[in-house]
Amino acid sequence: MSKVGSESNPLRVAIIGSGPAGFYTVSNFLKQTDLTVEMDMFERLPTPFGLVRAGVAPDHQKYKTVTRAYNKSAQHSSFRFFGNVEYGTDITLEDLKDHYHQIMFATGAPSDRNLGIPGEELTGSHSATDFVAWYNGHPDCTDFKFDLSQESVAVIGLGNVAIDVARILCKTDAELASTDMADYALDALRESNVKNVYVLGRRGPAQAAFTPPEIKEMGELEDADVFVPVDEATLDPASQAELDASGDKNVKKNVAVIEEFSQRTERDNSRHLTIRFLVSPTELIGENGAVSAIKIVKNEAYADENGGVKARATDQEEIIPVGMVFRSVGYRGAPVAEVPFDDYNGTIQNTEGRITDDDKNPLTGMYVAGWIKRGPTGVIGTNKTDAQETVNHMAEDARAGAVFEPTKSAEDVVSLLSARKPDVITYSDWNKIDEHELSNGAASDRPRVKLTNIEDMLAVLN
Ligand code: NAP
Repeated sequence: MSKVGSESNPLRVAIIGSGPAGFYTVSNFLKQTDLTVEMDMFERLPTPFGLVRAGVAPDHQKYKTVTRAYNKSAQHSSFRFFGNVEYGTDITLEDLKDHYHQIMFATGAPSDRNLGIPGEELTGSHSATDFVAWYNGHPDCTDFKFDLSQESVAVIGLGNVAIDVARILCKTDAELASTDMADYALDALRESNVKNVYVLGRRGPAQAAFTPPEIKEMGELEDADVFVPVDEATLDPASQAELDASGDKNVKKNVAVIEEFSQRTERDNSRHLTIRFLVSPTELIGENGAVSAIKIVKNEAYADENGGVKARATDQEEIIPVGMVFRSVGYRGAPVAEVPFDDYNGTIQNTEGRITDDDKNPLTGMYVAGWIKRGPTGVIGTNKTDAQETVNHMAEDARAGAVFEPTKSAEDVVSLLSARKPDVITYSDWNKIDEHELSNGAASDRPRVKLTNIEDMLAVLN
């Protein structure tokens, strides 16, 4: 047999997951011009693009234009898409080893982190990621219930997800109606009684994880006032020293925006968004099993020995009446069948994208990219360089012949799947679903009208 990666013996790669990290794996492999590669992408849902479809906010369509590049990669003759196929049930690790030289896991971070405080189990206490998946029409989340009859809601965390959730809760129906938000979510939010949204951050404005365009947008909402208490907008000495030393432009912009918010006087808007700093939730208080208030403690900032700024609790407590709480303190990766998992970090065990055993030895043919490799950080484009690092190692290992030795062919994959799974979705099937959603969107002046359950997606193809 000729060398792996040659025209007569192409390097066969299975990619699990069709989010940004999966698609950047494809585009990075297409740049390895000395290797002939065949790539098959497996996706649990019939639809590709992971969090670009189900995570990016529906009112941030410009971030979704990255899918144009993914579509371009998908047109390449060396690429095949198998949607509606779940790794671990419809296809196993053993199957993949029989058919591919290398396997790339790009399964993202589908779970979320807890706060670990009393009352988190109460009705009305939710993860922000569930709310995001619900309003974005993720098929797993269409039945989720959020009690939008509540007047006051708290969102815990200062990341962009917290900002997304708070913004969606504060926007008017007119602002949301032109998005690709799931129809049922649009209907529910149209009836929303939410008037007060509190975003609660444990550190100060200089340590916030949100980015300048996202925080600035909170001051431009059609019918919501934004408030920041002046004392919480003012940088403490440790934060000021940290910022003076780093000169970080984004932090400076964030701090300036927050300062400007703190100078605003109340307008006569229907909704009020309050962003608080240096406060931590200590308990969700319940009444008849449902959240009725959140207890917070005021923090003070201090410089730790490594030069970072941390927060520690003071003895000042406060209770804010709220009927719903969204914890938005970060996504978390979930274990993947038969792959070593680092439970502490919520990632697949790896060194620069090579999956490793407990002794940190690389496992032949096994790779990882994206959030399940490095944790849930960075913007969509961060996954490009992340995938590039892994693909470089995959190409290096392929050239060295350190790969699985599959006994079955590309055609055998199709036979295996057609025996196991009746409704496998190809990329051209996805294109039909996509066209259906886009044309329904065009008819109502929206980017698309999403299909939110798998039966409806399959019905489009029949
Ligand atoms: P994130 O950026 O990691 O932010 C998590 C926030 O939770 C931080 O403010 C963190 O504060 C806080 N936190 C963590 N543990 C806490 C606790 N026990 N109590 C109180 N606060 C706590 O996570 P994310 O918002 O889920 O976003 C994930 C990634 O997706 C990020 O890279 C984000 O930029 C990206 N994203 C981007 C966009 C966009 O570009 N528009 C939109 C959505 C998401 P500390 O800093 O004090 O730890």
